[in-house]
Amino acid sequence: MDILSVENWDLGLEMPLYIAGPCSVETPGQLDQTVAALVNEGVKVIRGGVWKPRTRPNSFEGVGSKALPWIKEVKDKYKVKFAIEVASPIHVEEALKFGIDIFWIGARSTVNPFTVQEIANSLKGIDIPVLIKNPVNADLALWIGALERFHHAGIKKLGAIHRGFSNFNDKTYRNSPMWQIPLGLKTYFPEIPLLNDPSHICGRRDLIPQIAQTALDLNFDGLMIESHIDPDNAWSDAAQQLIPLDLGQLLRTLKTRKVDV
Ligand code: PEP
Ligand code: MN
Repeated sequence: MDILSVENWDLGLEMPLYIAGPCSVETPGQLDQTVAALVNEGVKVIRGGVWKPRTRPNSFEGVGSKALPWIKEVKDKYKVKFAIEVASPIHVEEALKFGIDIFWIGARSTVNPFTVQEIANSLKGIDIPVLIKNPVNADLALWIGALERFHHAGIKKLGAIHRGFSNFNDKTYRNSPMWQIPLGLKTYFPEIPLLNDPSHICGRRDLIPQIAQTALDLNFDGLMIESHIDPDNAWSDAAQQLIPLDLGQLLRTLKTRKVDV
């Protein structure tokens, strides 16, 4: 099957797509307060990590399955959609029991074709949007390959997230944007819904507006941004999360008009 025959990429979600929420779901209270504040800022799709593949051992690896009923509760209470990362077929199975709306594949999973294939197989016949983050390393083919594996497994609602690339020499960004790579993806799949994740590119909150605006200027289709009710005390990625008020302010000031190219 030739993925290039896919003409109508459709995530089944409103575009531009703005997803915001904490790096990690920590406690029922943190989740409820963060979602309430984000809904107040007009956010309709929430993100939150449940299982967190961390680079180093002995870091917080997510609260796991016990977060799923908390998520179900905020979904019902605030009428929001909820996106989480899945990194194994077991995660998929567990998450589907609690009506999770959107899955994303993390940068540390996209690098591994066997992992990608296993997750894709576990989603066969399931109609759920899946967003694939770029691999941690600057390898466009690996990113394309992951999208192809999901497409070949029959998953129709596919999109991509640009979260930057690991780079030993970059002192400014946590992950270098290397814009030519997501733009290369757009050249290969012109219609693919492509989001930008400025949080994991920047690693610090002050740089986020500039990267988010650059993405929109480059015709990205949306953003995924980390936001936490109390970022300084977050259990993961404290330096890059925005308070919901600042997130709302950012979304209001970004210029979203698409430029014809
Ligand atoms: C995340 O979204 O919190 C995350 C771990 O992202 P990435 O896979 O891009 O590192
Ligand atoms: Mn994070």
